[in-house]
This record gives sequence, C-alpha cells and structure tokens, in this order.
Amino acid sequence: MIDHRRLGRKLELFVSDPLAGSGLPIWLPAGAAARHAVEEYVRDLERRAGYRHVYSPPLGKRELFELSGHLGYFADDMFPPMRLGADDEFVLRPALCPHHALVFRARGRSYRELPLRIAELGGMYRAERSGVLGGLTRVRAISLNDAHNFCALDQVGDEVREILRLIREAHAALGVRPAGFRLSLRGPGEKYVGDDAQWARAEELLRAALDGVDYTEGPGEAAFYGPKIDIQIVDAAGRESTISTIQLDFDKPERLDLSYVDSDGARRRPVMVHRSLVGSMERLFAYLIEVHAGAFPAWYAPVQLVVLPVDDGQLGPAVELVRRAEAAGLRAEVDSAGSLGARIRNAAGRKIPYVGVIGPREAAEGSLSLRLRDGRSLAPMSVADALGLVGAVVAARSADLLPAD
Ligand SMILES: [Zn+2]
Repeated sequence: MIDHRRLGRKLELFVSDPLAGSGLPIWLPAGAAARHAVEEYVRDLERRAGYRHVYSPPLGKRELFELSGHLGYFADDMFPPMRLGADDEFVLRPALCPHHALVFRARGRSYRELPLRIAELGGMYRAERSGVLGGLTRVRAISLNDAHNFCALDQVGDEVREILRLIREAHAALGVRPAGFRLSLRGPGEKYVGDDAQWARAEELLRAALDGVDYTEGPGEAAFYGPKIDIQIVDAAGRESTISTIQLDFDKPERLDLSYVDSDGARRRPVMVHRSLVGSMERLFAYLIEVHAGAFPAWYAPVQLVVLPVDDGQLGPAVELVRRAEAAGLRAEVDSAGSLGARIRNAAGRKIPYVGVIGPREAAEGSLSLRLRDGRSLAPMSVADALGLVGAVVAARSADLLPAD
C-alpha cells in the first residue's frame, strides 16, 4: 500500500525528527519547493477572486480566545497558555478566525465593502496526543489555507457558489478527487446560536448553492454556530477526512462585536463564512503524495527537469541548459555523476517529470532528447523547443506531460 510517510522519506519531502517533537514535521527542500508552488497557486487563485491576504501572528493574548469562545469550547485541543507576567498570558491559536475578525474590526465597515474576503495561509496549533500522530496526516503545527468572508445573509448563496467553483478549480489543478460533498444541518433538540429564521434562510441558500452537485445531508451534524458544507477525501488506507470546508457562523460576529453600516444607515451584523479551499498544507500533501504516488503534476514537482550529459564532454552545455531553464522559472538541475543508466533510474525513482539527455551530437547541434516520466521519449529537439514544451505544461498546470496543442 502507498504510504505518504514512506514516500515522503524516500523522495526527501519531509522528515519527522523525535528531537523536534512528534507531529512537528520539517519540510525538506524538495517538499518545500512543491508546497511553495501550491501556495503560490492558491494565493493567486484567491487574489483573482477578490480575496485580500493578511498576515497575523500564530499566538495571541488569552483574552482574545476567551472572547472568541475557543478557550471555552476547544481548550482540550489547545496547548496550555504561556505566562509572561501576572496579567500577560498568551496562547498558540487553534484557529485564525479571531485575528481575521480583528481585521474586519480594524475600522468601520460599510455594506459597500461586503463581501469582504480576508485570506491567509497561516499557522495554528493543536495539542494532539502523541499516539494519534503520523507523518503529515495528524500534526500539532498546522498551516491552513484559510479565509473568512464577511457578508450579508442574502449574499451567502452567491458567495458559497463562488467558493465551490474555486474549490473545484483547485482540486482539478492539484489532482484532488473528492469522495463526496456533505451538507451539515441542524438537528432537533440541540443548542444552536442564531434564530430560526436565520438558520432556515442559511440552509435554503446552501441547498441552492449546491444545486447540480451530488451531495448528502447530515441533519444534526452542523456546528452549534452554523450549517456547513464539507468536501471529503479518502486516503490510501481508506480513512475519510475533510479537505475543503465552507462554514457559516452566526456566533463569532456576535461575540467579537462585528458590525457594518447598512444602506439604510442601520448597524447590522455580518455573517462570517469560514472557508478553506484545500485544507491544511500538511493534510493536503499527505493526500497528494499518496494519490500521485509521489509523481506530482509537473507544475508542482520539486524538480521539473533533470539534465544528464552522456559524459563530461557535454557538462558545459548541460549546465548552460539548466541555467536557461531556471531563468525561465523552471526548477532544474544537472546530474553528471555515475553511469547514464543509473542516472536515468535515479531520475525515475525521484519521479522527475522530464529528463533531458545531451550526447555529443546533441551538444554539437544545441539540442537534447527529452524522456518523460511516463516512459515516452521524444525525438531530439532544440533547447528552446524543449524549454517551451516544459514551460507550456507547467503554465497550463496540466496533468499530462505533453502540451494539449
Ligand atoms: Zn475560521
């Protein structure tokens, strides 16, 4: 069975060192290169969809998390507070919402600014017990692709539809294959915040946004603060988890006293929509490593092109080709140590999508022979054509290693 922990070690993507602590993996250069490409892509996707990115610290004063309700509801999952002085206690945050609420509160807000979409790929912490930790699936330090969309209740339908579109786009680019969509609703006899009319309208808007989507309903599975849509994945071991989520929240705007001035001059509370397109970087990569068996699409492969001179006579052109590839924005390297066969096997073992071989004839002609990870070999082509081909596949975020043309 494919296990992301074993592949992560073999491909040198991340390491878990007992000295650093369990559930606190360290991303090695190859894993970091892949993650960086994915983070850039997600930020860009969000920016184009009207999101504004912020930075906020992964710890904050105890009072902030008392106010937000996290210390009341999630204290068991949080690390114990850190005391700096008599009245100075800090906690590692278990969520980004309180900080994003403070972004909303940073000045007065008008209905004209809504929906206000505040995004961050930020750190948060969970005091998971050692026994449940493993690789990237369950960790104590989490880097979450997060956003909070502050909107009027009547804007929720369009907002959720647009978030679902972004989720589908991100899944397609990354190669995520969702196992199911779930709409979690109120159940009887439970404690929920917000009034009945608000809940009824929110549920109606979520159902409408899911029109045309195959989903299941989970009565009684909503959070106490609002209904939500979860998108599930199943890992190689058959375990189901949530990768993307859209949660309506009637509670935090109240607790954190968020308001905007409506068109009639009245102060109104916004609805807070917590949403994650691809979840945490840790859980996402645990899944991507397994679903692709380590062979990522070229656009986020740690090394996209390895250049192999047949012997040292072609080392100069090989180094020059890598320099040009890097200047074109690609991740490339030369491998000149050992027999050609061993180097080709090594590139295959590292799941590098493109192998460029330069022999004496190619060196003389300024060309190279491209071999693709899936076994296909292309006729010798000019360096410019080869870089154009790889660049086109990367730019299109294509799953195939040849341009669609
Ligand atoms: Zn949140």
